[in-house]
Amino acid sequence: MISRSGLPNTKHGLRLDLRRLILVLCALTALVMLCASYFASYRVQRQLLIDHALEANRVYATKLASITETFIGNALQQLQFSAGVQGRQLSDAVALQAETHRVLAQSMAFNSTFVIDADGTLLSVSPAPLRHLVGGRMHSPGVDEALHLRRALVSTPYVSAANNLVVTLSQPIIDEQGRYLGYVGGTLYLREHNILNSLLGEHFYKDGSYLYVVDHQRRLLYHPDNQRVGTVVQGNALIDQLPTLPSGTLALTNSQNVEMLAGFATVPSARWGVVAQQPLSRTVAPLNTLVLNVIGASVPLALVGSLLLWWLALVIARPLWQLAASARRMDSANTAEDLHRVRAWYFEAAELKRALLFGLNLLHERIGRLNREAQTDPLTGLVNRRGLEFSLSLLEAEGRRFSAIVMDVDHFKRINDSHGHDTGDAVLRQLAHSMRRCCREGDLLCRTGGEEFLMLLPGADLAVAASVAERLRAIIEDTPIAPVGDLTVSLGVAHWEGTDDAAGTLAAADRALYLAKQSGRNRVVVA
Ligand code: GH3
Ligand code: MG
Ligand code: MG
Repeated sequence: MISRSGLPNTKHGLRLDLRRLILVLCALTALVMLCASYFASYRVQRQLLIDHALEANRVYATKLASITETFIGNALQQLQFSAGVQGRQLSDAVALQAETHRVLAQSMAFNSTFVIDADGTLLSVSPAPLRHLVGGRMHSPGVDEALHLRRALVSTPYVSAANNLVVTLSQPIIDEQGRYLGYVGGTLYLREHNILNSLLGEHFYKDGSYLYVVDHQRRLLYHPDNQRVGTVVQGNALIDQLPTLPSGTLALTNSQNVEMLAGFATVPSARWGVVAQQPLSRTVAPLNTLVLNVIGASVPLALVGSLLLWWLALVIARPLWQLAASARRMDSANTAEDLHRVRAWYFEAAELKRALLFGLNLLHERIGRLNREAQTDPLTGLVNRRGLEFSLSLLEAEGRRFSAIVMDVDHFKRINDSHGHDTGDAVLRQLAHSMRRCCREGDLLCRTGGEEFLMLLPGADLAVAASVAERLRAIIEDTPIAPVGDLTVSLGVAHWEGTDDAAGTLAAADRALYLAKQSGRNRVVVA
């Protein structure tokens, strides 16, 4: 069944037709291409975001390391100046205390300031709550380190006499003779509010990124989680790199098992490392929205594309279905016309159309030949009785007038008897030849029985038919056939006016023939 669109109302349920195949193929191709490009662009964008985040963190860490470096330089300079002042008034406890307080008050650099002599005795300290320690011998790793090294120093973190986790910046006090008298120190309380918090802590991102600072022994000096300050970081690939490189980037998994994108930089004077990092998941989170947006934006385009595709598939499949429909109606009279009308606009369809037209021609030719053979008398080549009936029916249908001449050989039995059946056959063929000589184009010559013939003369009236019959009779009479010799025929003529039964006209002609026989043969009788 073919629907109005020229496409099948398939009886095969889900069986795929060409149109659906094209649609499925294109949809699959589009899907694969889309997925591939989405995936590729997702990967590229993700890497871009990661690279960008790594670099941003490195730049940020470098900036903060540089700020910290500047701060340490300034702080050491302040202490150096104070060390010069204190070296001249080491025995003046009041002046010593006043200068110590000045250094603390001068800037926000330190949580406490103090002076310690070469023996480790605390000579002055500020702020006031610590003054009870003055005069005491200080025993802490930081004090020992400063007294031992006797130079400008940023200590490793240690627990101070006041039980604070501190880092001390110090400058040695050297008198004019170059003797070491002790040092001036300023401390940062790592677990309390200090200048590092102020410098680093306010640069907090909201996207989960954070900073931390470690010293060269991997001890945390600053961390947003205050509890972790002072602890040593273990198993961190990034911190392993800190002493060797001035700055860099690394994607790593942190101690909480979170994937991080880190940038780091070192503070050379203190051998500290500043690390800025953010979670990978937060960095690539915008990608999900991006992909959704891209998919959302593709949907209308995909719909338009699908419609176009649907139309194209229809246009491609239509000629094939039309050709198939025509092929199913090969026996119909207007199949060739239908085939010619099919717009086979692409190569394969055009080839198929050509092949079908060729096949159709072949079929019609073969059917025509079969028909002709079925309607032809093999001995004489004239139309047989079946052919006569067909022609009569056509004339009847058209209502076209005709005249009929029936002819019977006189005493034919004798010819057979005297010369044999084969000679009889040859005579019949010769008679057919004579009939052809007498007729016009469009006349129907027929062998209706053994030695009986009939001529249908469409459009001829009775007089014309009678003269044709007479001419035929005369020709036969005047044309001896070897070895038979002379031969005569009797003929009956009748006319059909196109009104009554055509078979009646043939009967009338037969009757006329009978009369011709009765009245002596070798003559024409007109009904
Ligand atoms: P009439 O003048 O009365 O017609 O005499 P006739 O001998 O022709 O008589 P009839 O028409 O009855 O005889 C027909 C004969 O034609 C009988 C048969 O032997 C012969 N005949 C019929 N068909 C064929 C054929 O195909 N070939 C040959 N050789 N003879 C045929
Ligand atoms: Mg006969
Ligand atoms: Mg006869």
